[in-house]
Amino acid sequence: MQRSTSRVTENAQERSPRHNSSVQQNHLNPEREKKLVFLSARVHPGESPASFICQGVIDFLVSQHPVAQILRDHVIFKIVPMLNPDGVYLGNYRCSPMGFDLNRHWQDPSPWAHPTLHAVKQLIVQMNQDPRVSLEFYIDVHAHSTMLNGFMYGNVFEDEERVQRQAVFPRLLCQNAPDFSFSNTSFNRDVVKAGTGRRFLGGLLDDTSYCYTLEVSFYSYMTAGSTAPVPYTEETYTKLGRNVARTFLDYYKLNNLIKDNRPIHIQSSEVMSQTSNVNRKGNGFGRDAADKEKEKSMGIRH
Ligand SMILES: [Zn+2]
Repeated sequence: MQRSTSRVTENAQERSPRHNSSVQQNHLNPEREKKLVFLSARVHPGESPASFICQGVIDFLVSQHPVAQILRDHVIFKIVPMLNPDGVYLGNYRCSPMGFDLNRHWQDPSPWAHPTLHAVKQLIVQMNQDPRVSLEFYIDVHAHSTMLNGFMYGNVFEDEERVQRQAVFPRLLCQNAPDFSFSNTSFNRDVVKAGTGRRFLGGLLDDTSYCYTLEVSFYSYMTAGSTAPVPYTEETYTKLGRNVARTFLDYYKLNNLIKDNRPIHIQSSEVMSQTSNVNRKGNGFGRDAADKEKEKSMGIRH
């Protein structure tokens, strides 16, 4: 999937006449600035599943699905579907054309050596200073070469309450996506990851923001009901993307930004799952801690 570009895409709501209605809504809730969600993918060019996830997010957000319409009315989504387009064009697995792993250069990207990263970082810094918006989520989408399922990496903080808040989105996603594993999700501050988007922006953005790396297996997922790993397909990757997008509604409902006044038939019982009778406790999918240790000793990166 090489047709995406690194151009930052804006959601349709910003350009549409309906923008006026969202301004009115902001007027009705003067204490709230507009929430902003920023997604990026393919900083590692070989991780093509990330593009299918990104495609699923975009397809859902621009659709006529009632949940998507509500999200567009309340939240701005900025999406960079391909952070390393030249690396993708060249068929690189991990690096830029000059041999840099861009996901280790967030701290001080050079406009000459890391132009796409430099531009995206500048945009994020600029948006973070814009008083009209609150940059609340940054999610960088990757694919993982050994783990099963979808899962996330998040940051750890001194503030326990912030740590707890950070676990909310992955827990909600776990309820919506049977192939997403909360048990594989982990929070760390490894020195080796200091130059990643998730780590760097976790330190830059304010305390109410959430920065994650969203990983998805290159090959398979297990759900509570499955006895063997199920191979991922383009469709199931895309479905995970759609579930990521719709989880923002659950999150913002929980935080009272969005009142749940949707018709009954589109409330939370209608979930895009791969299976209908899933154990939704978010436990036990995929690999366990021992596998993660093994991965560490093998020096596997993501
Ligand atoms: Zn990666």
